Amino acid sequence: MDFSPFSKRRTRLMEQMGRGIAVIPTAPEQVRNRDTQHPYRADSYFHYLTGFGEPEAVLILVAGVSHRSILFCRDKDPDREVWDGFRWGPDAAREAYGCDEAHSIKTLDGKLAELLADQPTLWFSLGQESGWDARIAAALNAVRAQERADKQAPAEIRDVRATLDGMRLVKDDNEIAIMRRAATISAAAHRRAMRATRPGRHEYEIEAELLHEFRIHGCQAPAYSSIVAGGANACILHYVMNNQPLKDGELLLIDAGGELDSYASDITRTFPVNGRFSGPQADVYSLVLDAQTAAIAAIKPEATFLDPHTAAVKVLAQGMLDLKLLHGSLDGVIESESYKRFYMHRTGHWLGLDVHDAGPYKSGEAWRQLLPGMILTVEPGCYIRAADDVPAAFHNIAVRIEDDALVTEPGSGSGSEIITHEAPKTIADIEALMSENRNG
Ligand code: CA
Repeated sequence: MDFSPFSKRRTRLMEQMGRGIAVIPTAPEQVRNRDTQHPYRADSYFHYLTGFGEPEAVLILVAGVSHRSILFCRDKDPDREVWDGFRWGPDAAREAYGCDEAHSIKTLDGKLAELLADQPTLWFSLGQESGWDARIAAALNAVRAQERADKQAPAEIRDVRATLDGMRLVKDDNEIAIMRRAATISAAAHRRAMRATRPGRHEYEIEAELLHEFRIHGCQAPAYSSIVAGGANACILHYVMNNQPLKDGELLLIDAGGELDSYASDITRTFPVNGRFSGPQADVYSLVLDAQTAAIAAIKPEATFLDPHTAAVKVLAQGMLDLKLLHGSLDGVIESESYKRFYMHRTGHWLGLDVHDAGPYKSGEAWRQLLPGMILTVEPGCYIRAADDVPAAFHNIAVRIEDDALVTEPGSGSGSEIITHEAPKTIADIEALMSENRNG
């Protein structure tokens, strides 16, 4: 593994810090029950700066005239390694991960006060983890106790996450390459799910097809709980039970993406269980696809984060009027937000190490401008629950179509690249794929 992207990010952070010290711990292990742990995943900020995957590790950055990266990690432990696997140990980790120093995590508390002394600013994610807050408070008090020995505790504590969020918003080449691969794998998983779907199978069987495809191509895990929702279940936005049979004549909505090397992908496709869209299903599907096309067209450098949403809402609201789901004028429906009965969420979110990735959506009062290298989802939908005032033909039809868009350089064409484009989404492409294994 090439660790230079991580050291470049450390340098960029230290350049923004001026003079000061940053303390960035990784995530703690989480007990699942008794002596069994949840699968371990490093803290996203820590991973962003180190690529180091072991628990019980802390990165300390000392910025000033010269920059220093210091890693604290577990010692080598031949006995534990028999049970739990390889540990780098400080010496090998320093070399492999390109840090200036590395020490045993056991020495951290002893060294922390010494490191904090006479630094004007401490960069730390106060409030993220109470154990760490207490540890930092103890170290600060230890420095203050030495004030007569001319040691000064940092006068200022700043949230290192705010600066890192700004960095994480614009992906570097290394991140884009991983996210393209995660998107390709996830698109293959959606194709596999389409091929496997037929009436009588269960939602969990299709979920199993997704998991197979994620894992066989190297994704470590799903990036979030997969939603495999047949028929009316798709009206439940965060449906994850995935335990119902799939019925002839209904749609199946799948929102699922793999996580590769800590980066998420996020795709939603909606398709007919029997491989053919009915007339009303096609009407709603075409509307959502048109809204997505309009939203994607609005993604370009200098547009704002809100622009794709505004474009999608306009198309959806007009379509809801045309389908007689709503009545009145387009302006009226948008003004009163009555469209929210059928489209109640926003059209996208940042995507990266976290599926709902770090980074502000506004700067001050204004929506964030899009910049080349940002990656966001585009996911309009239309969810029609059964109700007396809604045409019966549309009852329980729920459609969402979601892709991942990389904002491209100005003048490079369309303004964005859809990195998940290999998952079919036109009615013709979906029906063609689904007919492949149904003939005969
Ligand atoms: Ca999603």
